[in-house]
Amino acid sequence: MTTVHRDEIQWERMLPAEFRAAMDKKPVIFLPLGTVEWHGEHNALGLDSLKAHELCVQAVHRLGGGVVHPPVYGGMGGLDKPATVIMEGEHAWENHLLRPWLETLCYEFHRIGFKAIIMVTGHYGHNQQIVVRETAVRMSERLGIPVFGSPEYWLALDEGYLGDHAGIGETSLLWHLHPELVRMDRIKDDPDYGADDVIKDGSSQALGMRYADCIIERLASLAEQMPSWQEERLYRYIRSERAIVAAQTRGWRHIGPWEFWRHIGGSAFVQYGQLLVDGEFEAIEQLARTLGREEG
Ligand SMILES: [Zn+2]
Repeated sequence: MTTVHRDEIQWERMLPAEFRAAMDKKPVIFLPLGTVEWHGEHNALGLDSLKAHELCVQAVHRLGGGVVHPPVYGGMGGLDKPATVIMEGEHAWENHLLRPWLETLCYEFHRIGFKAIIMVTGHYGHNQQIVVRETAVRMSERLGIPVFGSPEYWLALDEGYLGDHAGIGETSLLWHLHPELVRMDRIKDDPDYGADDVIKDGSSQALGMRYADCIIERLASLAEQMPSWQEERLYRYIRSERAIVAAQTRGWRHIGPWEFWRHIGGSAFVQYGQLLVDGEFEAIEQLARTLGREEG
């Protein structure tokens, strides 16, 4: 199925003819997002962007068309740790850098001729997740083409990955995607992540492969379908994603920043990834409303 050479799907490495060919095959652009942030003594500092980028690259290979934009390093929040860039505070409602940057990129992708945009954030503070999804909803409305904006782990909730920071999930994903960038022997030097053997014993390349396969398959499936989402279907998609943003911000306003996420594990919302690729937008909308209900 995959005929495009690895080097020919990354925008910055393409020659114009390769770019034209990739767009002809599938006019979808992937935008990986992340930051440089401390991820324990055992993981490379660029984990979030590296992970998102490689997942997008492999999704495009599986799809056999489309283009991957270089990863954006920078976003909302970040730990108070060494070697970490914090562009904007995690708890700021204002957003002066990430949102306009993403919106401008979306306008440009649309102007250049892409028919669908998939933004994958490997960095997932609550506000990063909200800003990315909120921007995707707004840009879908403004541009009239589907824009998807989500952390990658939302496509593997039903595989049991609920997101973490340098924990078993992220460590396993990076270990699988970029084996040379994980040094598990160094976790013992980390007073936090190496305080016990949970991450050391729980992480594996096999687990990373299981999560990655699920995410890549769904990203490829979305990219296959999204260019045809127009009119009613696009509107239904927008409405379901908007319901998620509404529930997330409502929970934050009334209770706390992670309120929406706190209810995901063990709920039917873990079906999000499958429902999305199946086009079950009303089910997603209903689940989002149910999960956000307690906040009134
Ligand atoms: Zn991370």
